[in-house]
Amino acid sequence: MSAADAIRPVVGVDRAYMDLSASPCEDLYAYACGSFDRVPIPGDHAAWGVNQEIDERTFAILRDILDTSARTGGAKGSLAQRIGDFYASGMDEAEIEKAGLDPIKPWLEEIAALKTSEDVVKTIGRFHAAGLGAGFDFGVQVDDKNSSVMIASFRQGGLGLPERNYYLDTDKTAKDIRRAYVDHIEKILGLAGEKPADAKTLARSIFKLETRLAKASRDLVALRDPEKNYNQIDLAQLPAVAPTLPWAVFLAEVSFPASEQTVLVGQPEFFKAFAELLRSEKIVTWKGYLRWQLLSATAPHLTKAFVEENHAFYGKKLTGTTELKPRWKRILDATDAALGEDLGQLYVQRAFSPAAKARVHTMVKLHLEAMATRIKTSEWMTESSKTAALKKISTLRTKIGYPDTWRDYSTLDIGRRPHVLNVLAAARFETLRHMAKLGRPVDRNDWDMTPQTNNAYYDGTLNEMVFPAGILQPPFFDEHADDASNYGALASTIGHELTHAFDDEGRQHDWEGNLKPWWSDEDVKRFQARAELVAKHYSGYEALPGLHLDGHQTLGENIADVGGLRVAYEAFKLAAKETKPALVDGFTPDQRFFIAFAQGWRTNERPERIRLIVTSDVHSPCRFRVVGPVKHFPEFYTAFGCPPPAVKVPQVW
Ligand SMILES: [Zn+2]
Repeated sequence: MSAADAIRPVVGVDRAYMDLSASPCEDLYAYACGSFDRVPIPGDHAAWGVNQEIDERTFAILRDILDTSARTGGAKGSLAQRIGDFYASGMDEAEIEKAGLDPIKPWLEEIAALKTSEDVVKTIGRFHAAGLGAGFDFGVQVDDKNSSVMIASFRQGGLGLPERNYYLDTDKTAKDIRRAYVDHIEKILGLAGEKPADAKTLARSIFKLETRLAKASRDLVALRDPEKNYNQIDLAQLPAVAPTLPWAVFLAEVSFPASEQTVLVGQPEFFKAFAELLRSEKIVTWKGYLRWQLLSATAPHLTKAFVEENHAFYGKKLTGTTELKPRWKRILDATDAALGEDLGQLYVQRAFSPAAKARVHTMVKLHLEAMATRIKTSEWMTESSKTAALKKISTLRTKIGYPDTWRDYSTLDIGRRPHVLNVLAAARFETLRHMAKLGRPVDRNDWDMTPQTNNAYYDGTLNEMVFPAGILQPPFFDEHADDASNYGALASTIGHELTHAFDDEGRQHDWEGNLKPWWSDEDVKRFQARAELVAKHYSGYEALPGLHLDGHQTLGENIADVGGLRVAYEAFKLAAKETKPALVDGFTPDQRFFIAFAQGWRTNERPERIRLIVTSDVHSPCRFRVVGPVKHFPEFYTAFGCPPPAVKVPQVW
């Protein structure tokens, strides 16, 4: 099989991918997906499997929509004009080369003129307003402790490498990546006209500055504690967090409404350190840092030289891809990021039927019913916690396919001009859209993913699950497929997202989405003891020689994987209770359920990408998302006639 041959719409179980000589009892992934191991990963991908095949199918539809819109256009301000011009400008390489750095020249001049640390903060504010980001993260979110209002939020950030540990780890690979990163900064500065000797010195200073920001940052495990990362602060009290940081200068630049009195500061010690660095680092270093951040953020949308150097580090070095994705795919991604719901309107007309929506709706209903039963029959929860948990399930909202009302992009001006200007206009539109939410009731119709996205999410502050149309396609879902394959393949989606409502973070939000204790102390202790066993189980997995998973960093996702399979299995039993079990392709319905589940993770991943995931992601690599959840699943052992495991581990859910 070549990678291209492997793209065909299959549903649930496909024998061609299986390795029947492998033992499902020992390694379900090898048994269900073993024959796929020999399919090569295309040069422009870090991984190749189910998700990439789905993307190819979705991209073909989106490309056709964009080509048509670019060709036929539409009246100024119409949907077709916006997506057509955005795409056409992105594809116009001659225009992009001709423009060079001209489109971002005003930014470069502004940075060159900075004189004081207050100027630096002002420009950081202007970066944030433009959707560029630098120094730290700033955004608008639902208030974790009062889920009916929106609040502005400061969080640690400002790094060019994926995670703080990339700056601090002492192993050989980490050192090698750091050397390549400093070279990369130097090259990007050089492309923007910096003299070679200056670029070298500046790259080192920028890296040192980022390393200091990294040292002041919390690691992924610490960031997963919602209570410790929630600090609501009155504007008047911000100086107490970091006395020398000119907070008001920043807030003025991001159009912070005068009516707002409080903000969240996720990691106060980071901002204290940030303010100290503003004083201690030379202004020339800050100017270099901002120039680097600007060039790095815009590099994918600039000339060929910038695009290629950006890929040399962020693609090749960090994920192992050998080739750049074709231009049309990159511009399609950019269009999706800029005008996702414009594109989504046309996508769902072609790719998502009302019948599909109805079937998924039924599946979700049965998952909720199954989860409610799990809670009612839980051996470790007290009655009061059970009652509250059931309320959380009965009030949980689900969004399927696409939004009821579409985002209004009418104030976003897109035209035929250098691509990066359209990208920046869209980024600014997005910032303003979020800032405008402050002081207004929470918009429950808003979606965080576009309809064509092959992903899903649970939002704890809104107590809602969202399943975009893009993930509701084969092999995850087919409106004509049987329950065993649909429930098995979607276990990692519906069951998984639902379990997030009760994972180590989700359990801290009550039915209204508020972050407040609603379990008895004994329940919390019993939950933590069980969660600790999940963490220990996953920490035992070795993803690459010497590289183990961090069971605490991935705890929430692993609980959702383990619980998700359980809930999906129970929902499958509810759905299938009327039908007679029959062999299909020689497999029982239960076997098909587990094989479909495993084949939903069928993916070949480059070692660079596995390292990236293990060190900077809260998810486990694909293989462990299969072998982990079935490890303590009695019905799985029964289905395949496996000897039961020696140790019996209690379930969380
Ligand atoms: Zn998840």
